[in-house]
Amino acid sequence: MDCIFCNIINKKLPADIIYADKEIIVFKDIKPVAPLHLLIVPKKHIISINQLEVEDKELIGQLFFIAKKIAKEQNIFKTGYRLIFNIGPDAGQMVDHLHLHLLGKKKLSSM
Ligand code: AMP
Ligand code: ZN
Repeated sequence: MDCIFCNIINKKLPADIIYADKEIIVFKDIKPVAPLHLLIVPKKHIISINQLEVEDKELIGQLFFIAKKIAKEQNIFKTGYRLIFNIGPDAGQMVDHLHLHLLGKKKLSSM
């Protein structure tokens, strides 16, 4: 299996990593669509939300807690930010390793 994000996690590919712990890594998106565009990624290779198992519940919750912590650190806690999971082709998922996009430091158009 050749997965870009697993390669970043295993340090085979470079990335601008801004946070890492035992289970999660956060790095800057290579093609940012906002001044702050981060990817919050579980180290476990899960393809998408569609492949979640009951045992992943806590891990998924943890992604959101990391997002909140980063939002505070980046001073966008009050101004706001957007969190997105793309799932499958209609959503434009390009990397088949679960990741939560964090977009901020820009007034985003309403959906
Ligand atoms: P998605 O469309 O949700 O699958 O998003 C995948 C994201 O990964 C895109 O926003 C890409 O710009 C980003 N991306 C792809 N390769 C890399 C990489 N090597 N380092 C950082 N971000 C990447
Ligand atoms: Zn992977």
